Amino acid sequence: MDFLFTKEQEEFREKVIALLNTAEIQEKRKMIKKANLDSDPREIYRILGEQGLLAPNFPSEFGGLNKTLIEAAILVEEMSNSGIPEALHVLTSLIIGNVILLSATKSQKEKYLPQLADGSKNACILYSEPKHGSDLSSLESRAYNNEDLGTYSIFGRKVYSMKTHISDYGLIAVRTSEKQSKYDGLSLFMVPLNSEGVTISEIPSLSDESLYEVILDGVVVDNTCMIGKENDGWSVINKALSVERTGLDYFVRAKRWFDLIYTREINNIPTESTLIELSRLRCKLDASRYLTYKVINEFNRLGAVDESLSAISKLYASELACEVVWKGHELRGVEACLKDNHGYSELYGSLESAYREAPGLTLSAGTSEMMLETISKLRLTI
Ligand SMILES: Cc1cc2nc3c(=O)[nH]c(=O)nc-3n(C[C@H](O)[C@H](O)[C@H](O)COP(=O)(O)OP(=O)(O)OC[C@H]3O[C@@H](n4cnc5c(N)ncnc54)[C@H](O)[C@@H]3O)c2cc1C
Repeated sequence: MDFLFTKEQEEFREKVIALLNTAEIQEKRKMIKKANLDSDPREIYRILGEQGLLAPNFPSEFGGLNKTLIEAAILVEEMSNSGIPEALHVLTSLIIGNVILLSATKSQKEKYLPQLADGSKNACILYSEPKHGSDLSSLESRAYNNEDLGTYSIFGRKVYSMKTHISDYGLIAVRTSEKQSKYDGLSLFMVPLNSEGVTISEIPSLSDESLYEVILDGVVVDNTCMIGKENDGWSVINKALSVERTGLDYFVRAKRWFDLIYTREINNIPTESTLIELSRLRCKLDASRYLTYKVINEFNRLGAVDESLSAISKLYASELACEVVWKGHELRGVEACLKDNHGYSELYGSLESAYREAPGLTLSAGTSEMMLETISKLRLTI
């Protein structure tokens, strides 16, 4: 591995582990898991925010620690290792936080980043539409510029967004012009989800967590809510997609589900063939972690990532997460399909629930087919 953590990064990891395993946070973790399968971790995020640990890569003037994306990834890894739901945090601080860091104006940074860093506000992504998921350049939702008023009116229907019910803002992609090519007429806005004209409804999904539909019926937002330049949303989306596709949130699930299976098997005197299977998966997890940190490191150094490298990492991690879960079922048969934990660690959920969640990982943030297309387009040309 040509990537090593520095002494300061290892110390940061130790600090995070100590905080995440305090009685206060672990007690809250158990309570939110008991209360609702579609768990709401915002109280825990606020504790991390109070300690200044929630957005380590943000500049200190915006509530961060002036550290890098590596520390932000360490935090996500350790949240997952400690059983704390990390998905809302990844959306808010890692993906949307980085879009704002890279593409917003100074006054927008001053407005949004401190709220995301202290855990008081969270945000979700509103890109997909009923007819447009893989091909975002064809989006039909529309924002009209009310030039004299300094506002835009947004109309549209967004689907399959995650964590919308506990988000304060939605980063929405909409069309602002039909005159230019379909790639050039898009813009991004941070829409307060409590605005008049926003209707959020649940879309039940296969997994424990629901997805959401958001209808925007003439939602009026201020000009200052636009992130990046008008009609230049495509370049902002592309930067954001690289952060969405580091593979990190897919790798941490694969690792969590591996740990779930591993502890169960090791406590039951595994056969030699089981040990071989587990070793093979562990090697693949190491490879996935390496790929993930390679992408994050590149993003850190250059502020951008080779699209094909992030596609490789996302594809590998999401397919591996499925492989881990299928292997768990092969090893335990019917027992793994039972809804209770049945000897599996309470910390990492149930294998039955993982079975229903895993396939979605090969669709969200770009399907496996789209990742393969990107890789073949950018890597396999002569
Ligand atoms: C768990 C989960 C969470 C999600 N979270 C969010 C979210 O927070 N915000 C959000 O905006 N969206 C979210 N999505 C939506 C997700 O981004 C889309 O489902 C995804 O981009 C695919 O789009 P689609 O569903 O419209 O399928 P389509 O684009 O219609 O694709 C259907 C099938 O055709 C294949 N296909 C399409 N085009 C090509 C091509 N050119 N070449 C080869 N094959 C192709 C696809 O791979 C897929 O198998 C989420 C989805 C899931 C499952």
